[in-house]
Amino acid sequence: MEIKNIKSCIVAILLTGILIGNFSTLYFKVYPFLLQNEKIHAQLSIVEQNYPFYSQNPNSASSFSTLNEEDLLLINSYNESNVYDMIAQQIDFGYRIPSSNASDQCISWISSTMKNFTNVSIYPFTLIRNQKEWLCKNIIAKYNEGKDKILIFAAHFDSRAVAEKDPDESRKDFPIEGANDGASGVAVLMEIARLISQSEVKWDYEFWFLFLDAEDQGLSLGRYGLPNFSWCEGSSYLVNDMKSHPDNYFSANQSLNSIKSFILLDMVGGEDLEFIHESHSSPDLQDRFFKVGNHIGYTQTFPLEANSYSILDDHVSFSREGIPTLDLIIKFWDPSITWSYHHTHGDNLEHISKESLKIIGKTLMYFIYFTYHPSLEGFSADFSSPSFFQENWQSLVLISVGIIAIGIYIFFRMHTKRIKITRMPS
Ligand SMILES: [Zn+2]
Repeated sequence: MEIKNIKSCIVAILLTGILIGNFSTLYFKVYPFLLQNEKIHAQLSIVEQNYPFYSQNPNSASSFSTLNEEDLLLINSYNESNVYDMIAQQIDFGYRIPSSNASDQCISWISSTMKNFTNVSIYPFTLIRNQKEWLCKNIIAKYNEGKDKILIFAAHFDSRAVAEKDPDESRKDFPIEGANDGASGVAVLMEIARLISQSEVKWDYEFWFLFLDAEDQGLSLGRYGLPNFSWCEGSSYLVNDMKSHPDNYFSANQSLNSIKSFILLDMVGGEDLEFIHESHSSPDLQDRFFKVGNHIGYTQTFPLEANSYSILDDHVSFSREGIPTLDLIIKFWDPSITWSYHHTHGDNLEHISKESLKIIGKTLMYFIYFTYHPSLEGFSADFSSPSFFQENWQSLVLISVGIIAIGIYIFFRMHTKRIKITRMPS
């Protein structure tokens, strides 16, 4: 074979690679999304037949009159002022840094409050970092035990031990209050647990309210929260321990596969709440949650069309086990958003919005009723995990852009060489 032919072959292979790369991204990212849209529209119309209601006025009880009155009353008894007070309570304990007194007080308070309506277990674990022992604890509060299927609602309760993003250089090494980053998710979960435990519905699911330790002490901008800690230590310990000691967590008829969804609340109480699409999250679970939010009128908080970002958070360990997860989180790294106090001393009660606490709590309640209610026959609440391509589409796009660039470079190099060769004899 001539050298020229080999070169053309290489160019052809590269161009085919580029085409396959781009089309597979389109196929795996966009095509399932279109299919899902159709599926979810069909599902929502089934929901509407069972619970017709109108999105124009989501707060008026009368517009929900065709909903089961008891269910409606319960959903509407969600009290964002309670939630706000529970955030204030956590801040009153002090900084909930793993292994600290304030953390212990917070753990006792969460478990004693949750014991009013759930069975509470505390799972201690020790992290050894720099030859020092850190005693951490995860808390699992279970409601409606004895079912095969499990729904998990989770938040981290630790607060970060440094404020590496604070504009004031002299305050960067001091702990933050974590009103939003930590406390908001915990408080919303506690209110949801109170309501679910009061519902008359005969749920087919166990509800687990999971309060995680040691999420927020990893390395950022050159500062660790705690020395040599990784992010999400509590959840990664938990999933490993669930695998090695399943009997400590599951009843005889359950396993890790019994977890039908894992919904994580992280920074849910800031002003102008707007959640992102997250790529480790289950695409159809995420889409359904956002559609419910839109349906009850919260279109700004739950944008249906948005870029997807990849976030390392407490759901990832569960997602890696094939469990459908959803991370409800804001674009916290963007300084242009209204709530831009991530890992600063501005993460305090002043920047907590009761309106946001209402939006997330009510949407979560409606989502639970519209997704897991036993009367929803014909609706499957089995959500999928993201495919490799959905989870990694951003990297795939980057790789194919790289291949295009290399392809163009080689093409032009060959072209210029050929021109030189044809001109040489003259
Ligand atoms: Zn954080």
